[in-house]
Amino acid sequence: MSDTATRVVKDNMIGLRMPDVDVWSERVVTVLGQNPGPFTGPGTNTYLVGTSKRPLLLDTGQGLPQYLPLLERALAEHRAGGEIERIVLTHAHPDHLGGVEQVRARFGALPVLKRPWPGMDGAVGDAIAIDEGAVIETDGATLRAVHTPGHAEDHLCYWLEEERAVFTGDVVLGAGTTVIPEHGGDLLDYMTSLRRLLALEPDVIYPAHGPKIRDASAKIREYIAHRELREAQILALLEQGVGEVAEMVSRMYADVPKFLHAAAGTSVRSHLRKLEREGRARRDGDAWALVSP
Ligand SMILES: [Zn+2]
Repeated sequence: MSDTATRVVKDNMIGLRMPDVDVWSERVVTVLGQNPGPFTGPGTNTYLVGTSKRPLLLDTGQGLPQYLPLLERALAEHRAGGEIERIVLTHAHPDHLGGVEQVRARFGALPVLKRPWPGMDGAVGDAIAIDEGAVIETDGATLRAVHTPGHAEDHLCYWLEEERAVFTGDVVLGAGTTVIPEHGGDLLDYMTSLRRLLALEPDVIYPAHGPKIRDASAKIREYIAHRELREAQILALLEQGVGEVAEMVSRMYADVPKFLHAAAGTSVRSHLRKLEREGRARRDGDAWALVSP
């Protein structure tokens, strides 16, 4: 257990730094959202995608004032002073959608493309609805949407055909592990989403947080293995009659700093809900128990 616990600490994204603007390929330029934090690491990666002066913007960050000058700088330095053509979103979480109004205020009433999530879309209630399989073309780049729920039910990843790359949003991160939130998160769906990404056999991953991932398949396998290991630990505890989340967390994450225990509790509950959906565990008052076969 201690190896995994250590890895969780080492892999958390606190303190990781990334450039404000960076060129990742001839058709992909990153602009950092300027919103670092415990769950966003160095901040949200937003992406200019396309080779012309009219690239699309994939995710918009959180809407912080420091972001817009960097977006303008990236366009000036790398897209001949061009303008954003439209906005494409991975999902409705505020660190991805929060910059839409700001970007529209600067570049005009740009169309926004996303998979609808009723009640969560807020400022982008007027978005153009897209879903699994949607193809978005811009100069020099073709994106295909892949519905990948689990972190958020509206989550789309985007396959970049020209590079065998995949923009993974919050499904696979450049550092740390993805949160499966109580609202809109589902670990069973998430595992299916990871396997779908693995089946694409991408060469490279462009995540929404942290650096690009060159060994894409190995990283996705590592994500799958990490959750499988946690599940095995939880099943072992349930077998021993340890069924209260706080007790499970203190045993599983003994050598992880206490400030991460709340996040660990969310993770343990996501596993328990998965096991419940699979008919393998059930709630028993405040505790959980195995369903006997
Ligand atoms: Zn998210």
